[in-house]
Amino acid sequence: MDLSFKLSDNSKKLEKLVLDTNASFADIGSFDAISSYEMECKDAKLTCPSKLFLKDILGLTGCEISVNKMTAGSKAPFAHKHKENEELWIVLKGTGSIGVDGKEYPVKEGSFLKISPDGVRTISATTDLEFLCIQTKAGSLNESTLTDGVILQ
Ligand code: ZN
Repeated sequence: MDLSFKLSDNSKKLEKLVLDTNASFADIGSFDAISSYEMECKDAKLTCPSKLFLKDILGLTGCEISVNKMTAGSKAPFAHKHKENEELWIVLKGTGSIGVDGKEYPVKEGSFLKISPDGVRTISATTDLEFLCIQTKAGSLNESTLTDGVILQ
């Protein structure tokens, strides 16, 4: 069973995608136009409108990131949690609410919400809501910024 998501036949295609040795580049257009994209996992019979998963497109090896838009008044069709991955939800535009284990966190532009793997999460949009969601394996980051970066002159 292939559980990866791919752009559906109905989706806008990525026009500018550059996969170089040490860099991957994609320009998805404005975040407002995210509704032109649709991803699907055929084996799981799941279709996700207004969503773009970037891990496979960019060849990411340490995280998955999705770009999402929900229309005013809509909500995720199901609650979910993860086996190993924590998530960071970053709201770019709009208002809504993210529920974790039954507690509601009101969100708007500039909201950041980290959810541990076991947190059962839901999301609803009050107004059109645009957000990013970054999944990483909980506890996987050993070094960052100045302890991982190497400054070259
Ligand atoms: Zn998730």
